[in-house]
Amino acid sequence: MSAARPFFGGNWKMHKGPDEARAFLHAFAERHPPREDRTVVLFPPAIALPALVGAAADRPDVEVGVQDVHQEREGAHTGAISASMAAEAGARWGLAGHSERRREFGDDDERVARKVDRLLEAGVAPVLCVGETLEQRDAGRLQEVLHRQVSAVVERLSDRDRRELVIAYEPVWAIGTGRTASPEDAAAAHELVRKDLAAWIGDAAEAVPIIYGGSVKPANAGELLTMPGVDGALVGGASLDPEAFASICAVVTA
Ligand code: PEP
Repeated sequence: MSAARPFFGGNWKMHKGPDEARAFLHAFAERHPPREDRTVVLFPPAIALPALVGAAADRPDVEVGVQDVHQEREGAHTGAISASMAAEAGARWGLAGHSERRREFGDDDERVARKVDRLLEAGVAPVLCVGETLEQRDAGRLQEVLHRQVSAVVERLSDRDRRELVIAYEPVWAIGTGRTASPEDAAAAHELVRKDLAAWIGDAAEAVPIIYGGSVKPANAGELLTMPGVDGALVGGASLDPEAFASICAVVTA
């Protein structure tokens, strides 16, 4: 840990419509009492976002985020949603650069950077996802890939906006695969990201939350979150189950 409050994100991907989102919130809220010492954010599919915001109305400690927004402010982009629409629907946070968007939808560094710009101007706090493929890691390119993905976004931002970021380190080979980075590997990658940030904002980089994502489960969350520089978790599969996600959100952090 280095940031003030650990951050727990639940990325539902293409799971749960409005009814299931409401049912999840009720089940999760029963298992997760409000706590001021951590940030908990659920990222439902956009179509379930208003339902989840409504269901969480009496639980302000459970925040809601959007999984993706378009890089333009508005226009002829069938099927897309803008950052300002997401904000209007109640999203306080927004993912950008998730590896599934990079791989399936061609989000390159330039587009990811523009999405972060749109989120910030709409008042939605960005969670920038970065991470290497297994091929890149095996070729010794971890540092280069993280540097490229972080710099593409950070170089466009003001110092103030740089401090607003949450960065999710998500090794692509660990997402949805059941393989988790070792706590030491995660901590080492977080340190690389923090050094890149420090080149821009100096000591303020210490306070930027850098969270880990990739097959986080109740059984491994505690070990990962006590590593130095690991400030929380972005959870995919295990966040679909209210009990599992509540148990991850309850882990004792360093
Ligand atoms: C993710 O989608 O960001 C993720 C980390 O997924 P999973 O936990 O299923 O690996």
